[in-house]
Amino acid sequence: MSSESSEQVFRLRAAASGRESIAPVTEGVVYRDAETGEELEPVAEVLPLASSASSLPRTPENLRVCRRCGQFTARDLPVCEFCGLPA
Ligand SMILES: [Zn+2]
Repeated sequence: MSSESSEQVFRLRAAASGRESIAPVTEGVVYRDAETGEELEPVAEVLPLASSASSLPRTPENLRVCRRCGQFTARDLPVCEFCGLPA
């Protein structure tokens, strides 16, 4: 249960400045920006999800095929990383 692969990684954001950080989150712990001291709040889970069998972000289950350029691009990006087409 506490193995490395089951730790969910989150994107953390400071509300005022918009500064972001990526880290595994432990419930009940307050995270602060190292430079500004602002409290960072989890805003999104980062792929691969903790429940994923693989910890590699580039495994097929974490990619989709862009319908315009046909490239494999990450599912957690809002646009295709190659041609910019929105998901
Ligand atoms: Zn594309």
